[in-house]
Amino acid sequence: ARQDTLGEATLGELAEGLRGELIRPADPSYDEARSIWNAAHDKRPALIVRCKGVADVIRAVEFARSEGLTVAVRGGGHSIPGFSTTDGGLVIDLSLMNAVRIDPDRRRIVAQGGCVWADVDAEAQAFGLAVTGGLVSTTGVAGFTLGGGIGWLVRRAGLACDNLVGADIVTADGRYLHTSEDENPELLWALRGGGGNFGVVTSFEFKAHEVGPTVFAGLVFYPGDQAAEVLRGFSTAAAGAPDELSLAINLTTAPPLPFLPEEVHGKPIVAVLGMWSGQPEAGDAATKPFRELAPVVADLFGPMPYNAMQTLLDPLFPRGMRNYFRSAFFHDLGGSTLDAIVDAHTKVPNGFSELHVHHLGGAMGRVPADATAFGTRDHEFILNVVARTPEAEGYDEAVQWARSTGSSLGPGAASYVNFTGETNEDIVRASYPAATYDRLVAVKNTYDPTNLFHLNQNIRPASA
Ligand code: FAD
Repeated sequence: ARQDTLGEATLGELAEGLRGELIRPADPSYDEARSIWNAAHDKRPALIVRCKGVADVIRAVEFARSEGLTVAVRGGGHSIPGFSTTDGGLVIDLSLMNAVRIDPDRRRIVAQGGCVWADVDAEAQAFGLAVTGGLVSTTGVAGFTLGGGIGWLVRRAGLACDNLVGADIVTADGRYLHTSEDENPELLWALRGGGGNFGVVTSFEFKAHEVGPTVFAGLVFYPGDQAAEVLRGFSTAAAGAPDELSLAINLTTAPPLPFLPEEVHGKPIVAVLGMWSGQPEAGDAATKPFRELAPVVADLFGPMPYNAMQTLLDPLFPRGMRNYFRSAFFHDLGGSTLDAIVDAHTKVPNGFSELHVHHLGGAMGRVPADATAFGTRDHEFILNVVARTPEAEGYDEAVQWARSTGSSLGPGAASYVNFTGETNEDIVRASYPAATYDRLVAVKNTYDPTNLFHLNQNIRPASA
């Protein structure tokens, strides 16, 4: 069924039963409500349900199922492949469900399904707590956590999903289930890395860590022609890095910002950035080996509030640009991998496209492979090739650059569902070991046998 075959009476009944809003194409808020962060996906859903609570979510799921509508679920709306919107179907938009509850004694954070990281960080830092969140604070807690979640605490606290101790979920049949180590544990296992495949998560419960309020963080810039030197030195220094230190390398183009000398503006540049979350006084020494890898253009590391670092990059990642990501995990930052990354940097299609290398390992690497559904833990690094353009012009060329860069690291390299700009069965299979994939299919068979929730890096149930 499509929207044009849905009667006004049926839609009126849906709207009346909601605490939140039903938004339709003729409504003034429709264009704003249908847009997502990545402007590469400009779609026109028939219905958008802005849920205010679990009851609205149940109602929306049951309505979509009984009317045969395609379902898109939106947490923070940052999906790169555009999973949180759809043409002609129903969007379950959780953005109004952004409450956060902190339990300081038990060190727990409970975040509703529509929270973004800024919501969680603001509440948790009032109690000196944090959990691994995104590098950009406008990213949704939901999609980020369900896919894994790499952030500045990853080496100290693990992935976001490693800290997920419970979740409430509305499944395809409209049931509301609590998951924890004791209740529906197999479903919780699947939510820790298996993406949005299993239902609409209305609430996430995290184990929290004592962090901040002050951390030692920031970024240091090196000249673009020193990229190989920087990568080599980073690799050596990273081998002995403590867990409290999580860093990344960004091979990019120097923005015209006042802290960079004018002569480098618009030229290739390499930044090493990240956070030391141990004692702030120890941060200078801990980060030092990474701040003298080559002649320094500018060093902006220093003590700062945790939440300042969590929002530092926000202005560089505005909504409304066209984006495509391609990722690959790898073991060593040397040899042909290093050459491929440096080569791709010299070929960036525009000043917005860049290469991110995240240092992983630490606490993330010590979680047993079968403890969660997250696919790849035994690699020290992940490359995220970020292709972006402000407009349609040049976008296809940028996507081509990202694809060929990804392939140059080995066409079969494992990828990360949250850093992947498109989807097909090969991509999903390349994100999980075979045993994990099969186990995810079994959970999918149990909770979503008709694949109602298929706008995601889809685990196809046996019968659909
Ligand atoms: P959405 O588009 O809302 O959803 C993404 C997927 O999750 C969709 O399949 C959707 O259906 C599903 N989903 C959303 N909410 C729910 C829910 N409540 N229940 C069930 N399924 C749901 N990743 C990292 O690991 N580390 C980073 O530092 C990082 N930085 C990023 C910065 C930017 C600017 C962007 C755009 C992305 C970044 N990512 C990062 C990737 C990010 O983790 C994914 O894009 C993630 O899917 C976004 O989640 P969301 O809730 O905002 O997205």
